[in-house]
Amino acid sequence: MRPDPVADIERLRRSRNAVILAHCYQPPEIQDLADFVGDSLGLSRTASETECEVIVFCGVRFMAETAHILSPDKIVLQPRTDADCSLADCMGVGELSAMKEKHPDALPVCYVNSSVEVKAESYACCTSANALKVVDSVPSSEVVFGPDRNLGTYVSRHTDKTVHVFRGACEPHSTADLADLDRKIEEWPEAEVMVHPETPPDFWDRADAVTGTGGMVEWVEASRAERFLVGTEKGMVYRLQTLFPERSFREAGGILCRDMKLIDLEHVASSLGDLEPRIEIDEALRKKARESVERMVELT
Ligand code: SF4
Repeated sequence: MRPDPVADIERLRRSRNAVILAHCYQPPEIQDLADFVGDSLGLSRTASETECEVIVFCGVRFMAETAHILSPDKIVLQPRTDADCSLADCMGVGELSAMKEKHPDALPVCYVNSSVEVKAESYACCTSANALKVVDSVPSSEVVFGPDRNLGTYVSRHTDKTVHVFRGACEPHSTADLADLDRKIEEWPEAEVMVHPETPPDFWDRADAVTGTGGMVEWVEASRAERFLVGTEKGMVYRLQTLFPERSFREAGGILCRDMKLIDLEHVASSLGDLEPRIEIDEALRKKARESVERMVELT
C-alpha cells in the first residue's frame, strides 16, 4: 500500500509527461484527479491533441483501445486490464461477419463500445450522439448495426433506412429498473428526465431527452430546469453535480457498471510508476480500425 497515492500520482504524472483520462462513470476520486473527464471518444480525441507521452485511461478496455487507435505514438495505460465491457464483449468478428453475409447489401456500422477488431471490420463507427447521423449518411439503404440492440432499435425508429440490429446489450443499462424510474418521477414530478439510449424503450417513453453522456451535459446546459433524473450509470450524477453545482440530480434505474468501478488510486499510481499494463494493437489492425473512426468524422 502506498501511504499517499495522490502525491505519487502528482509526481509521476509530471515526470512521465502523462495525462489522466476518466470516463464519467468512474468513481468520484478518479474523476477528481483526472486531467479530462468525459465520454470515450471525446477523451481519446482530446488526448491525441496534447503533447503528452503517456495516456492513463481510467475506463474499460475498448476505451483505452480507442485512445491507442488515435494516438499510436503515445504509451496508453489501462490501470486494470480486467475492466471490460459486457456490451463490447457480446459481439466478435465472427458474429459481425455472419450478419454481413446474411445482409450483403448492408454496410456495417459499429457503436464505439466495441472491440478494435469489430471497428476494423466496420464501414464506420458511431457514438450514441451521432449514431442516427452516421446511419443516415452511409452510402447504402441498408445497415448492419451492432453491438447494442437498444441503440440500434432507437436509430431504426428514426431513420428511413433498413437497420439490421445485432442482439447485444449493455448488461447494466439493459436491466435498468423501470419501477425505480417511475418512483423517482413521482417523487420529483417537475424534474426533467434524461435517459441513455442503451436503456430499453420503456425508458425512452418516459424521457424528455434520450441521449448519451455528452448530450446530457449539453441538455442541462440548455435547460432552465433545476432538477434532473439521470437514467444512466450512477457515476454520471457526480459528473453532472460537479459541472452544475446549483442544480439537483438523482440517478434513476439503479444502473451500476461494476467494471467501471475497478480502478482505484493505487492502480493509477502503480500503473504510472511501472508504465504497465500497456495497450498493444497490431499496426495493420489499428490502421483499419482508425479508418472506421475517421469515416465517422467525415460523415458527421
Ligand atoms: S456501462 Fe455498459 S456499455 Fe458502459 S462500460 Fe459498462 S457494460 Fe460497457
